[in-house]
Amino acid sequence: MSPHDHRDAGRRLGIYAPNDLCGAGLPLWLPDGTIVRDELERFVVELERAHGYRHVHTPQLGKRELYERSGHWAHYHDDMYPPMAVGSEEVVLRPMLCPHHILVFETERPSAAALPYRLAEVGEMFRFERSGVVGGLNRVRQMTLNDGHVFCHPDAVGTEIADMLAMVGEAYAVLGLPAPRLRLSRRGEGAKFVDDDALWVRGEAVLRDVLVELGLEFDEATGEAAFYGPKIDLQVRASRGKEETLSTIQVDFHLPRQFDLAARDGEGSIRPVMIHRSIVSTMERMVAHLLDVHAGALPAWLAPTHVRILPVVDDVITSAAEVRDVLLRAGLRAALDDRDASLAARIRAAEQARVPYVAVIGRREAAEGTVAVRVRDGAQLAPMSADQLAATVGDVVRSRQVALIA
Ligand SMILES: [Zn+2]
Repeated sequence: MSPHDHRDAGRRLGIYAPNDLCGAGLPLWLPDGTIVRDELERFVVELERAHGYRHVHTPQLGKRELYERSGHWAHYHDDMYPPMAVGSEEVVLRPMLCPHHILVFETERPSAAALPYRLAEVGEMFRFERSGVVGGLNRVRQMTLNDGHVFCHPDAVGTEIADMLAMVGEAYAVLGLPAPRLRLSRRGEGAKFVDDDALWVRGEAVLRDVLVELGLEFDEATGEAAFYGPKIDLQVRASRGKEETLSTIQVDFHLPRQFDLAARDGEGSIRPVMIHRSIVSTMERMVAHLLDVHAGALPAWLAPTHVRILPVVDDVITSAAEVRDVLLRAGLRAALDDRDASLAARIRAAEQARVPYVAVIGRREAAEGTVAVRVRDGAQLAPMSADQLAATVGDVVRSRQVALIA
């Protein structure tokens, strides 16, 4: 196993744990992993709000009829869990969020003038993965997707997709990830794909035109589309060199037709086009990718602990605890390591945990009211007060900058 594998960093940093009794492909998020995931969610929700999305919460279950209507039952059945009988009805764990978002659109019934109608949800979904393939955070049976759906006028598809690509660019920069490669994923052979040639020709042409118009480089792959339409896959490379899809943008004429979606337009109505998109993928896959690419050394705003405080000797523990409290009151994640171990051993432990900032307090610092600060990349900062440290780290964290020193 590569030292950069997310499973190694995940264990070392206490991000998640597999559990036999809970079940294969159902990892537990531990407290430090939950911090990383919550920060990621908060970031993407803020990004989406700034781009005109409104967020919803929709159920993780749906009636079998909902998926028969959407086409999941016919085309996606193998990836779904068997239905559960509830009284006279059958319900299933949702394999995707799209049908629920369509029901929100139908409930609100926006007019054509009010389009584009943009919905987002950080929502749970379920995939029937076979026992042999589950593992780590990458292949799980329950996952939480950063999902979004835009219902727009056919003329607005290009503008919306350009905006989604801009969001991906913005997100990857903040996450410290290299720009992904673009792939136009087209239909392949077989019953996996909705059988309607005109729909596929139109969808693939729309996506190709947008990419060409934006002057973006991309290649094409056959058989990688969603069952309902072609997509732009944003391909990333893990440390072991294997390419995978994280973010996706999909154009869909199928589901609006299945649900007979319409937006009032004067006396008549228009049928909106649906664009499915995920900016940062599932929380599971993005956290795995971040751990892998950064080898556990996450950008400070994502790090479970921002500052670890090390008292050199026992009689400065009180001063060290005061520094911690100043940092906590400033809204930072600070922890005291006053274990009975040598300073060198505790510094090594902080390095192993990839903590961005380590504040060391000896007798001199305690007397002067300062701390000596070591940055994860090896830099040493000039001695500073607890308030100065809170301001310095606070700026880095709140601006979500990747560099640890301004
Ligand atoms: Zn969708």
